[in-house]
Amino acid sequence: MTSGEFTRGTGEGTRAVRAGLPEPVKYEPTLPGPVFAAHFHLPGDPTGPYTYGRDENPTWTLLERAVGELEAPGRDDVTTLVFASGMAAISAVLFSQLRAGDAVVLPDDGYQALPLVREQLQAYGIEVRTAPTGGDAQLDVLDGAKLLWIETPSNPGLDVCDVRRLAEAAHARGALVAVDNTLATALGQRPLELGADFAVASGTKQLTGHGDVLLGYVVGADEAAMAAVRRWRKIVGAIPGPMEAWLAHRSIATLQLRVDRQNANALVLAEALRERPEVTGLRYPGLPDDPSYKIASQQMRRFGSVVSFTLPSRERADRFLEELRLVDDATSFGGVRSTAERRGRWGGDAVPEGFVRFSVGAEDPEDLVADVLRALDVSAD
Ligand SMILES: *Cc1c(COP(=O)(O)O)cnc(C)c1O
Repeated sequence: MTSGEFTRGTGEGTRAVRAGLPEPVKYEPTLPGPVFAAHFHLPGDPTGPYTYGRDENPTWTLLERAVGELEAPGRDDVTTLVFASGMAAISAVLFSQLRAGDAVVLPDDGYQALPLVREQLQAYGIEVRTAPTGGDAQLDVLDGAKLLWIETPSNPGLDVCDVRRLAEAAHARGALVAVDNTLATALGQRPLELGADFAVASGTKQLTGHGDVLLGYVVGADEAAMAAVRRWRKIVGAIPGPMEAWLAHRSIATLQLRVDRQNANALVLAEALRERPEVTGLRYPGLPDDPSYKIASQQMRRFGSVVSFTLPSRERADRFLEELRLVDDATSFGGVRSTAERRGRWGGDAVPEGFVRFSVGAEDPEDLVADVLRALDVSAD
């Protein structure tokens, strides 16, 4: 077992369990433990790879290899950089690529911290244009833009846009394209294969999947662009701790198991919710009659673990969440334990008061559906 291709295998589950592992060394662990180091022994001229802990760390290196193998299997021309959080990764791309006077296109229905980023970009003299995720409306505002930012499926609305089509249009106008791949994960969608220049994600969600780590990453093949992202990480210092990086790497071994189970559960739950008269606006990109299904089934390999729907009122939604026994009322998504929340409690998202974002975990589907249906029954007026 020597050649990388052979030891990594070609199936996705095999790739996930072996992703980023170093060549076996006798008496060493399979996945070396976290390296806690602010500095490294460095006699003489400071050449790499490991000099100072804000620049590089061997635990990051293995995790970066793992993420790169999942986002861009079989390619050795991509660079992966890990960050302290998804927002650190997103900010690193935006602020390293854009200059005063540039224009950027952002989604107007994406992650809730994007409006904060928008304000900051504008304060630095960057023109921000917005477009909704569904329907490829980004095409109308691309002229003269330097960067197109896509979040598909969008959080929390679960709309989907055509990455290939948008990337072609953006490249024809000289714009770079970044895709937030948080909700799909690398096993659900590979933005670089669809033509994007950057795949960016919060590893806090399904990538790590246990609700105990914050992490982010950026993957890209454009050397100059990735060098600028790396430089941004160094000057801002938005770096993951070695322990978090190691936990994330350990979690990736079970990514395929978790994603397959949680995605299957999400479909079962969505099908059960469809039968309920008090549920409106049900969205799951894997339901064949969902508005996102057509494009999603062309560009995604799995549809994600988030289902969203609306209950008749804020009070009804609150009672429903209160009655759930197997589902925690909590934010975030992608974890092995189901969570749900009334999204309107945060403000910011353009959603009805009774809108629920439901993150489907790895429980037995019968138990989960029974709990949800019981909570719907007992919370009725
Ligand atoms: C959570 C999330 C982020 C931000 O990630 P953090 O790790 O919380 O910083 C970005 N994009 C999407 C789509 C998210 O769901």
